[in-house]
Amino acid sequence: MTKPVVNQDLCIGCGTCESLCPSVFKIEDGKSHVISESCDDCDCQESVDSCPVGAISLE
Ligand code: SF4
Repeated sequence: MTKPVVNQDLCIGCGTCESLCPSVFKIEDGKSHVISESCDDCDCQESVDSCPVGAISLE
């Protein structure tokens, strides 16, 4: 099981990841935070690929 991680220094809070996978990503204080280590809907690769600044990685 992969765990999504957001690099807080890179995230610009655009909300794309939250839109794609709201069960895993939540925007708070202008940054995306991982609120669940995994979701049943996807492996979050789409969020990784869609982040405009490459802030999301899977560990
Ligand atoms: S898609 Fe990337 S830059 Fe946008 S909120 Fe998510 S982690 Fe931050």
